[in-house]
Amino acid sequence: MAMKQFKAESKRLLDLMINSIYTHKEIFMRELISNASDAIDKMYYRSLQEDDTGLSRDDFKIHIALDKPGRKIIIEDNGCGMTKDDMEKDLGTIAKSGSLAFKQENKDKKNDNNIDIIGQFGVGFYAAFMVAKQVTVESKAYGSDEAWCWQSSGAEGYTVDPCEKAERGTKITLDLKDNTDDDNYDTYLDQYTIKNLIKKYSDYIRYPIRMDMQKSRQKPKPENAPKDYKPEYEDYTEVETLNSMVPLWRKNKNEVKPEEYNSFYKNKFGDYEDPLKVIHSYNEGVATYTALLFIPARASYDYYTRDYEKGLQLYSNGVLIMDKCSDLLPDCFSFVRGLVDSQDLSLNISRETLQHDHQLHIIEGRLEKKIKSELLNMLKNDREKYEQFYKAFGLQLKYGVYSDFGQHKELLQDLLLFYSSSEKKLVTLQEYVDRMKPDQKNIYYACGETTAKVDMLPQTEAVKDKGYEILYLTSPVDEFALRALMKYDDKEFKSVSDDDLDLQTEEEKAAAKKKVEENKDMLNFMKDALNGEVKEVILSTKLKSHPVCLSTNGALSMGMEKVLNQMPNN
Ligand code: ADP
Ligand code: MG
Repeated sequence: MAMKQFKAESKRLLDLMINSIYTHKEIFMRELISNASDAIDKMYYRSLQEDDTGLSRDDFKIHIALDKPGRKIIIEDNGCGMTKDDMEKDLGTIAKSGSLAFKQENKDKKNDNNIDIIGQFGVGFYAAFMVAKQVTVESKAYGSDEAWCWQSSGAEGYTVDPCEKAERGTKITLDLKDNTDDDNYDTYLDQYTIKNLIKKYSDYIRYPIRMDMQKSRQKPKPENAPKDYKPEYEDYTEVETLNSMVPLWRKNKNEVKPEEYNSFYKNKFGDYEDPLKVIHSYNEGVATYTALLFIPARASYDYYTRDYEKGLQLYSNGVLIMDKCSDLLPDCFSFVRGLVDSQDLSLNISRETLQHDHQLHIIEGRLEKKIKSELLNMLKNDREKYEQFYKAFGLQLKYGVYSDFGQHKELLQDLLLFYSSSEKKLVTLQEYVDRMKPDQKNIYYACGETTAKVDMLPQTEAVKDKGYEILYLTSPVDEFALRALMKYDDKEFKSVSDDDLDLQTEEEKAAAKKKVEENKDMLNFMKDALNGEVKEVILSTKLKSHPVCLSTNGALSMGMEKVLNQMPNN
């Protein structure tokens, strides 16, 4: 049969498609499996509408076979199939999606079993050419008694010829490209590579994806085996279903046992410990999505390094689109692991780069609130657990307060904990404020290396004498965080080493001022005697039992100055 030209400037487009849209060759498998699943969905949908198809859901399957010597991968489905016309239209025109048309046609029909078709761009199929030098599609459409074979070796064009095919559905044969120095296409002939690809991208396709697995087993030991009998092995073939089909996150929360969540988390995210918290939520509205999030029990070894990459897995209808979608998490919650599955993301054609749009942004905002409220819950109801969490990730929360131009201050302030002088344990800012004395105006803090050392600082005496609580900041970021917050519940943060501790009543202030006036000459004399070594000599109200203390005035405290001085490019 005569060779036909691809439509729509297709040659160049096809080239582009094959070489630049996808960054990973391996996703050809995901695309072909998604198409098979779409075809089955369409067939299943028809079987629900027409009573006489005699088909039930259990009849549908996708089958993968590997032909090692022939270097072929064969993917077969028993979906709706394609007519000759369909092939010309859907496979012969790039960026033409039969699935999108189907979705649109059936959009308004009321049907409880709403269809979850994945395809929409009409380019996925061409991903096959990333690994195949020739693609053969044999198909028999539902209700038709003829089968057709579409064949193409890429940009040159394609042929459509009649062929023999007994069963309804589509069979796709990929003749793998020859290996090059850079690419070893033979890896796709390895059954475990394929199994892993299915697990990775298509685990939640709702129809079984089966493959004949070559296995080996020990032969049973014969009864009259000699003493020096060595076990013998035999090869056999076993059909295995590679996908687990039902995504855990699509199950009803009450149907999932804690162990299931835990083992899912450990398997998927490679942690050996159970998560501290599981957040499973379904959202409808401007953005419809399901989120399954986990808060790890511990920071991974690389968490506080540059190597750590934040992000959630992103699924569209159970198909993995992106492994680490960083747009879904603010930095302050970068420790959260998990996934989001949404039907209505406007993906761009490669499915690998999302349009950075509105919906993602909305989802991020929702997740942010959700994570915060779950953490607050934990703080309220399981303090011990929260402190474990805080030990692992409190540092990140504090960073979060002052990075990103402080836009997450509000979000984070109630999640912070600081050591309290009076409670001798970690307390929240709200708890501090609730305990403030009637005459107390500020929230006081003191910095030092350890709580024991801070406790002995002479500067804390005057504040303690007033019966005020002091927050002991032992990590340099603590002070940065408080300074970024500036206020909590309208109370200012004040360092005990500030010049003016604001501890005195108006009368006390006036008396002190008067005393300074009276002793002006002596103070000036002392200043001159010190000959420029000091900025000023004043009467202090700070000291009680200690003879001296250091204090600072200016924007930076000594602790902060220390941090800044330690920075390499300072
Ligand atoms: P999309 O899936 O985004 O629509 P593809 O390039 O993956 O685009 O596929 C193009 C079209 O080819 C599909 O919309 C569908 O109509 C048809 N098609 C592809 N694979 C199959 C299949 N296995 N069975 C039936 N139709 C198929
Ligand atoms: Mg597709």
